[in-house]
Amino acid sequence: MFMFEKAVVGSRRYWIWISCLLAVILMGVVPYFRQLTYGLGITGMSRDVIWGLYIAQFTFLVGVVVGTGLAGLEMAENLVNRGLKVTILEMLPQIAPVLDPEMSERVCRHLESHRVVVHVRERVSGFEGDAEGVCQVRTESGTAFPAALVFLGMGVQPDTTLAQRAGLEIGATGGIRVDGPLRTSDSRIWAVGDAVQVDDVVTGLQCVVPLAGLASRQGRVAADSICGRGSKFRGTQATAVCGFFGMTIAVTGATQKTLRQAGITNYDVVYLHPDSHATYYPGARPIHLKLIFSTPQGRILGAQAVGEDGVEKRIDVIAMAIQKQATVFDLEECELCYAPQYGAARDPVNLAGMVAANVLRGDVKLASWPQLGETPALILDVREPHEYAADHIEGAVNMPLTQLRKRLSELPREREIWTSCGMGERSYYASRILVQNGFTVRNLSGGYLTYWGWNP
Ligand SMILES: Cc1cc2nc3c(=O)[nH]c(=O)nc-3n(C[C@H](O)[C@H](O)[C@H](O)COP(=O)(O)OP(=O)(O)OC[C@H]3O[C@@H](n4cnc5c(N)ncnc54)[C@H](O)[C@@H]3O)c2cc1C
Repeated sequence: MFMFEKAVVGSRRYWIWISCLLAVILMGVVPYFRQLTYGLGITGMSRDVIWGLYIAQFTFLVGVVVGTGLAGLEMAENLVNRGLKVTILEMLPQIAPVLDPEMSERVCRHLESHRVVVHVRERVSGFEGDAEGVCQVRTESGTAFPAALVFLGMGVQPDTTLAQRAGLEIGATGGIRVDGPLRTSDSRIWAVGDAVQVDDVVTGLQCVVPLAGLASRQGRVAADSICGRGSKFRGTQATAVCGFFGMTIAVTGATQKTLRQAGITNYDVVYLHPDSHATYYPGARPIHLKLIFSTPQGRILGAQAVGEDGVEKRIDVIAMAIQKQATVFDLEECELCYAPQYGAARDPVNLAGMVAANVLRGDVKLASWPQLGETPALILDVREPHEYAADHIEGAVNMPLTQLRKRLSELPREREIWTSCGMGERSYYASRILVQNGFTVRNLSGGYLTYWGWNP
């Protein structure tokens, strides 16, 4: 296959080489591409057709996407849809860094199922061409990835040149320092958008978050402030969404990674995998949901969800809950739309609240997924034998929930038991039965579907 690419590329060597460079340059000036086409009087459809024709020449060749932020993931889908073979290079050990690692595994498999080749731990160090004019993307590991087209989606940094020239203070994050009403260090100047430093409402850290919703809300606050109203920007919780190949990932609030950076440790995490709507109505798809909440108060700190239906709706609800400093007990109680094609009588948001509230009320203790490989506890898989046979946590013992009450004598009383099942529901029931019978028990939240994220 590589020979084929080489032959095709070789026959168009100069053109490809120039195009590749052009693509890289174009990505660097994407913010200006729109202005350029506007300037030439090329807008809307015409601009898209030109862009499409430009990309079309690369059909059947390899496009390399560098970086797996939201833009990189969406770009991968677009290139595949244009007929390119796509390779993704990510310097981190995981893709989709807006998610915690165990949530990103699903994203990785989804991309691979659409023939996207994903490489993690590959930090790009340069671009080069060989004697035949084949463009290659070089990484620090010494690997060279052939590419006819390269897209860089490696993150955004505020360009504060103008602000610095105006003598405005720049914050530690590199963004322009502003106060609540978004006034800069020069009281005659307000600043909004991607280039300003704002407060993270969950961690209290300062951050720069390049999202359109923030920029727009800030514009209104600044306008109010300029006109003498006392509006203040509330801060951000970095609510974001992204879609590719039919999959949606959405996040709001803190991830465990950001909590670690902020030194926040008093929290717990639950996983659940509910269907997007009532299962008897066709088309329901699982939503893989992670909820992070403070202990012992239960204040919602963050949520991440991955799935193919209803994902962003649940994250939007939780985003509002975070903004109102709500707790998991509020999620238990929140009243949401329900008809079978839209949701469930116990919506995934309610379920997330219930599962977390069970922990805070002491109905169940959580086992730690990262410690699974080291624990001396007995791992008890309470699924049916055929499910266990299909696949199971390494070392787990199978005792179906349906037989548990009759077989309690087979279980050790001196050893902690960690219960597990498919999605975390049956193992919760099992843990209740065991606790009521005097065993020391913890539950592996989210069951085998969560295990799969930790151990792909
Ligand atoms: C490919 C891509 C996809 C995105 N998708 C999403 C999304 O799905 N959801 C989301 O929330 N956000 C998304 N964003 C981010 C979103 O576009 C930005 O957060 C938002 O546009 C920021 O608004 P802003 O006003 O700060 O900056 P911009 O919208 O970038 O506007 C700044 C303007 O100032 C002009 N400018 C810069 N310097 C000067 C100067 N010296 N003199 C005069 N003019 C100047 C620029 O040309 C530009 O027109 C995306 C960004 C990109 C690049």
